[in-house]
Amino acid sequence: MTTGNRVLDARIPAGPLADKWDRHAMDNPLVAPGGNRRKFTVIVVGTGLAGGGAAATLGELGYNVLNFCIQDTPRRAHSVAAQGGINAAKNYQNDSDSVQRLFYDTIKGGDYRSREANVYRLAQLSTAIIDQSVAMGVPFAREYGGALANRSFGGVQVSRTFYARGQTGQQLLLGVYSALVRQVEAGTVRMYPRHEMLDLVVVDGRARGIIVRELTTGEIKRFAADAVVLATGGYSPVFYLSTNAVNCNTTAIWRAHRRGALFSNPCYTQIHPTAVPQMGDYQSKLTLMSESLRNDGRVWVPKKPGDRRRPNEIPEAERDYYLERRYPAFGNLVPRDIAARAAKVECDQGKSAYFSSQSVYLDFADAIKRLGKDVVGDRYGNLFDMYREIIGDSPYDTPMMIYPAPHYTMGGLWVDYDLQGTIDGLFVAGEKNFSDHGANRLGASALMQGLADGYFVVPRVVASYLAGAKVSTVKADHEAFAAVEDETRAHLKRLLAIKGKRTVRDIHWELGRTMWDKVGMSRNAAGLNEAIATIGKLRESFWHDLALTGSAEDLNKQLEQANRLCDYLELGELMARDALMREESCGGHFRDEHQTPEGEAKRDDANFAFVSAWEYTGPGREPVMHKEPLVFENVELKTRSYK
Ligand SMILES: Cc1cc2nc3c(=O)[nH]c(=O)nc-3n(C[C@H](O)[C@H](O)[C@H](O)COP(=O)(O)OP(=O)(O)OC[C@H]3O[C@@H](n4cnc5c(N)ncnc54)[C@H](O)[C@@H]3O)c2cc1C
Repeated sequence: MTTGNRVLDARIPAGPLADKWDRHAMDNPLVAPGGNRRKFTVIVVGTGLAGGGAAATLGELGYNVLNFCIQDTPRRAHSVAAQGGINAAKNYQNDSDSVQRLFYDTIKGGDYRSREANVYRLAQLSTAIIDQSVAMGVPFAREYGGALANRSFGGVQVSRTFYARGQTGQQLLLGVYSALVRQVEAGTVRMYPRHEMLDLVVVDGRARGIIVRELTTGEIKRFAADAVVLATGGYSPVFYLSTNAVNCNTTAIWRAHRRGALFSNPCYTQIHPTAVPQMGDYQSKLTLMSESLRNDGRVWVPKKPGDRRRPNEIPEAERDYYLERRYPAFGNLVPRDIAARAAKVECDQGKSAYFSSQSVYLDFADAIKRLGKDVVGDRYGNLFDMYREIIGDSPYDTPMMIYPAPHYTMGGLWVDYDLQGTIDGLFVAGEKNFSDHGANRLGASALMQGLADGYFVVPRVVASYLAGAKVSTVKADHEAFAAVEDETRAHLKRLLAIKGKRTVRDIHWELGRTMWDKVGMSRNAAGLNEAIATIGKLRESFWHDLALTGSAEDLNKQLEQANRLCDYLELGELMARDALMREESCGGHFRDEHQTPEGEAKRDDANFAFVSAWEYTGPGREPVMHKEPLVFENVELKTRSYK
């Protein structure tokens, strides 16, 4: 591995932690309202909570916004799938919650591998998100007296998660969408659905535009702007099977990476402990069962290895509620990385649900006895219905079967405090920057980050960037646009010209198996080296054996998927390299070589308290790693314990 000598500066405002964001507002210039703002064009790629929130707010402020997504409507951005809830430090339960506590929980939850200043800002903004969403009509669950209700999520000892049954993401996204549509009507935002960004155009070191493909016609188009915001969501489908939608991809950020944006912490993936187990080799994704279920569900396996009796035939004394046994302080509500690994440990010892050697039980019998079927149904009814559709059993009568699955990617493009990447004028928001969750994200904090970035951070930081810049004279007829467009066309042509015999799915499946087996819940040096070699061979196979039909000048689903897969084949290798470099265990990154005698993650703060930031050096060349040292001035680095 080559280590570069660039030390990244996050440009964090000076002063006490609690004052930094306010200070940022005072210390940075603004663009005056009215005509001045209309002169600036901002491209926002993505219409999820982060992108949609940013586009709507920038539009409301008066900028000229171009907003892109690959779905047929902004409302189908993957944020729509979020189930369980969104955190905020409102302390409505009077259970001693505070901004400071949310900050601390998030830093600890991320295993001390995130940046203090960003996390504090996230906790501060959390309360405004709830106010804004309520004002937009988001129907959060309420108590009998009308106050907003809360529930608990993993890794915390307070109740701060706001929710709308099991459809929180959908309801929040409808709020964003209504704000967006208002701007579309007002003419400040132009929407481009079914347009996929295929490359970034950089002129004189500044992000100046993008090249997109209109997915229904195949037309390649150029768009120029004064700043570019990428909010393109997670890339868990690098594992093939994940809880993400099949169309989730890494293309926008990967192409920006190839153009000079550094890529941080690619090895940090969140494996969610409660997905419906894999049923066979022909499914295209896995279904999440929300973490909120662990509020009332109890996780267990049979005590005897190989016990294949149905769950209701196993007496209480022969069940092991292993999370309650191993982590009495947090019990079933330990964070995701801990719960996921614990399930693997049990299954590796042959203790699993009857269904397969990779499944454990999540049992609601006690909750139903205590609260009644109606209350449990009110809380989780839609999730139970979804489960019954897939498995055929009702969780009201039989324990659910669950198993960990790739879910969220904490890695992403490196950004400074202003969410600006290493290319000037390129901002990255939501799941696709690396900034807030360290090595493990706590439940219900991705929606919080998406809306914090979208509604509040991006509008302010983009404004201060534009205030310091002249209106761009670079238009889409600039030679740099022509050059990148030519490269895009040549790339698509090359894909269609391969004429091999392997389908995209076949190659992607093999990549996914390699990632899951060697770069998944636990990793070791031998496996990671094997993964790097296998992925290299797979990339060769892709460029020789891929079979595509159709043309680039038309709707062509296979071409879309192949284009995304070729980026996954490069990203997968970088994930393995990053995991190999990180000789410690932290959060979602568990190295077999670095564990305590009890099997818990063993961090190495002396050598690894940094953010990795990888530089692309060209096809087939080894990437170079740079570092952002992590400085902790407000929390003490401790061994993370939930016991
Ligand atoms: C099943 C599930 C349940 C979840 N539940 C919760 C929860 O309860 N609480 C919580 O906090 N988090 C939850 N999460 C995580 C959370 O939903 C996501 O992290 C978050 O919604 C991501 O928002 P985003 O705006 O960054 O991206 P997304 O909502 O994924 O939006 C990405 C946007 O980018 C567009 N796009 C992508 N690539 C391109 C391209 N190349 N060109 C043009 N457009 C592009 C897409 O069309 C889309 O509009 C859940 C995730 C999943 C998968």
